[in-house]
Amino acid sequence: MSESNSSTKQLEEARCWLSTAQRILVLTGAGLSTGSGIPDFRGPQGIWTRDPDAEKLSDIHYYVSDENIRRKAWLSRRDSPVWQACPGLGHEVLARFEQSGRLDTLVTQNIDGLHQLAGSSRERVIEIHGTIREVVCLVCSYRVPMQDVLKRLAAGEEDPKCPDCGGILKSATVSFGQSLIAQDLARAEQAARDCDLMLAVGSMLSVYPVAGLVPIAKESGARIVIVNGEPTAMDGIADAVLLGDLDEVLPGVLDGTHIND
Ligand code: NAD
Repeated sequence: MSESNSSTKQLEEARCWLSTAQRILVLTGAGLSTGSGIPDFRGPQGIWTRDPDAEKLSDIHYYVSDENIRRKAWLSRRDSPVWQACPGLGHEVLARFEQSGRLDTLVTQNIDGLHQLAGSSRERVIEIHGTIREVVCLVCSYRVPMQDVLKRLAAGEEDPKCPDCGGILKSATVSFGQSLIAQDLARAEQAARDCDLMLAVGSMLSVYPVAGLVPIAKESGARIVIVNGEPTAMDGIADAVLLGDLDEVLPGVLDGTHIND
C-alpha cells in the first residue's frame, strides 16, 4: 500500500473509532498551541531547540538557587505570548467535540489555559503541568493571579517575594524536578485505565509521568490515536498515527464524528 493510501486508511479508521468510542481521553501537548503563537519547547522551532540554556528557567533547582534565573523567569512570564494568545482551531474543535458527551477527560500538558478559553469545561480539563495564569509561594499556601505579581514587576520588583512569608514566588506550573499534583496524576491515570480510546495530540510523548498514560490506556484495552507533526515516542503502540499540522488534521479527525452518535 502506498504511503498516502495508508495515511488515508488510518484517518478513516481513526474517524470511525472516534465515532463509536464511548469514553475518550484526550491528551494535549505544546504543539496544539503553536498555531496560537506560543512556541513549543522541543519541536523543530522549539524554545529549547533554539536555545538549550532556556531549559534552566524550567528547572526548579536552578530556580530556587539562582536569583538571576528567577529574574529571567519573571521577565519571560511578563513577555510570554500567552497573554495575547487566542485559542486555535484545535482547541475549538476539541471544545466542540466535548458536546458529543463522549469526551471523558482532557489532560493537557499545556500551561496556557487556552482549552478553557475555547470553552472546554473546567471539570473535564486536568492541567497536569499547572498554569502560568497563577502564582504560588514555594513555602506557604499563598496563591494569586499572575497579573497581580506582574503589576509588582512593572512597579520595579525584579524577584518579587511572598507578602505573607517572604518565600520564593513562582508560576503555578510544574517545573522539572517538581512533583506533579498527586490528585491530578491519580485522576489522569484513572481516566487512562477507564477510557476506550485515547487521542494524543501535539506532544512528543516523551515527558514522564504523563507519557506513561499512553501505555496505561493501551494495557487497559483502549485504542490509541496519535496526531502530531513528527513521530512520537509512543508511535510503536499506537493503533493509528496521523502525521501533519494539527489545525489541518484535527478537524478532519473530529469534526462530524459526534453526529454519528
Ligand atoms: P514538546 O515541545 O515536547 O512537543 C511538541 C510537539 O508538537 C512536537 O513534536 C512538535 O513537532 C509538535 N508540533 C508543534 N506544532 C505543531 C503543529 N502545528 N502541528 C502538529 N504538530 C506540532 O511538547 P510537550 O511534549 O507538550 O512537552 C513540553 C512541556 O513544555 C510540556 O510539559 C508543557 O508543560 C510545556 N510547554 C507548554 C506550552 C504551552 O502551554 N503552550 C508551551 C511550551 C512548553
